Amino acid sequence: MTKYIFVTGGVLSGLGKGVTTAAVGKILRSRGVKVDLCKIDPYLNVDPGLMNPYQHGEVWVTKDGYEADLDFGHYERFLDIELDREHNITTGKVYLQVLEGERKGNYLGQTVQIIPHVTDEIKRQITEIARINNPDVLLVEIGGTTGDIEGMPFLEALRQLRMENGKENVLFVHVTLIPSLGTVGEQKTKPTQHSVKELRGIGIQPDILICRSPRPLLDETKAKLALFCDVGKPEVVSNHDVDNIYEVPLVMEEQGLGDNILSKLNIRERKHDLKEWRRFVEQVKGLRGEVRIALVGKYTELRDSYISVAEALKHSGYALDTKVDIQWVEALGLEDDPRKVGVLKGADGILVPGGFGKRGSEGKILAIEYARRNDLPFLGICFGFQLAVVEYARNVLGLKDANSSELDPQTPHPVIDLLPEQKEVKQMGGTMRLGEIPVEIEPDTLAHRIYGATRIGERHRHRYEVNPRYIEELEAKGLRFSSRSDGGRRMEVLEIPGQFHFLATQFHPEFRSRPQRPASVFKAFVEAAVRKKVMEEKKLHPQAR
Ligand code: GLN
Repeated sequence: MTKYIFVTGGVLSGLGKGVTTAAVGKILRSRGVKVDLCKIDPYLNVDPGLMNPYQHGEVWVTKDGYEADLDFGHYERFLDIELDREHNITTGKVYLQVLEGERKGNYLGQTVQIIPHVTDEIKRQITEIARINNPDVLLVEIGGTTGDIEGMPFLEALRQLRMENGKENVLFVHVTLIPSLGTVGEQKTKPTQHSVKELRGIGIQPDILICRSPRPLLDETKAKLALFCDVGKPEVVSNHDVDNIYEVPLVMEEQGLGDNILSKLNIRERKHDLKEWRRFVEQVKGLRGEVRIALVGKYTELRDSYISVAEALKHSGYALDTKVDIQWVEALGLEDDPRKVGVLKGADGILVPGGFGKRGSEGKILAIEYARRNDLPFLGICFGFQLAVVEYARNVLGLKDANSSELDPQTPHPVIDLLPEQKEVKQMGGTMRLGEIPVEIEPDTLAHRIYGATRIGERHRHRYEVNPRYIEELEAKGLRFSSRSDGGRRMEVLEIPGQFHFLATQFHPEFRSRPQRPASVFKAFVEAAVRKKVMEEKKLHPQAR
């Protein structure tokens, strides 16, 4: 029978609850426990696919083509797993189910209410994940903060699940914040006390407190929290800031979190094995090389908007013993003042990630042009791929005003155009070309050298594509489409053979990057940037060896 760990959040959002949940999963897995993770997002959206990255950070794409919260990225990266759409429960999804059921007559004769109908549906969706995947432990992270009105039905459902399944099968972990005040940095426990009180008010007593704080929790802080929140002192775990998020499982395991959870859930004691992970974390802390990658995006002020891209770059650096220094370049800035393109001078490589809409697109095109003309390593992803085609069409083919019809519906040269099947699409939610799709790679190309295979699967999220009418002309002028899909109809990878390293993908390789297994497209790009840097240094100092 599956046991449950419910992870709630206290005090404020953005505490790193996703990383914490993933880290707990990592600890349990290292004990030989079969874990599965899912996320509850109490907002009314059915999924986060139509949300602005400024609201919620990046939209993650699962293998089966679901647009999910970015915490899915933490789960997949920490545990090296692939989750499907059923692993996300939102208020929108729950209500949709209940309301459709009501129209069908499933509740004939009854008044449909939050309790029990909505809470029953929540419980059904959670237990269904457990039933299908049959893990020893299902970790369920609840988005938002305790006390939010929209979270209430979920917490009530979780309370019921604890009652129905028994204490030894259900654990509540509360992730909370311990701020430090004043010059001495006194650790304040009051916000946490209030947050636990709030939980208790709805009938939930947390079993374990995981405390985010700038510095390790002092012994007296732990004692105080234990006293006021009615947990044992060993149940108060310090989850203080660390340089690298992959260190979090180690920090918590050192405080006995694994043993504690196992004994509470009555799971037979197993020796932990985070040795190999520790070695990895140590190696990451001591990276020797350094390379600078300019990431040109529209949402650079909220770094979470590009979290998977940034992670994939870092993972590549780990494999190359190199620290990747990401230079965040605001595309809107370049667009408003093209002279600002000079900021790219110090970069060893330029990356243009996925995106939507006109604003900032001209800035991104300028950055692509800069990379091509200066023969700097370039990686374009999705929107970055499409804009690389636009740049080439304008500046090499001389098709003035070439554009994507997403950005300029009136363009005389729509080199990027709506996917034909998208023309029928009326509803925007969940209707892009989504998820893992097989891609064919041509031999003797950079893409083939990178993947070492002729057939791969990568995740997609787009409505637009290279317009087939322009392929011949683009290829005749030196752009090479080295990978295609859907029987050769869709362009998936472009490269420019004469360039040092110029490659872009219609798909998103970042979603398959793992800390110890970087996405090969990213690794090849970072490697090229490192080589470029060495070459440039040699040019500057010819005598140096
Ligand atoms: N806006 C583009 C499209 O819809 C690119 C999408 C993306 O970068 N994910 O095709």
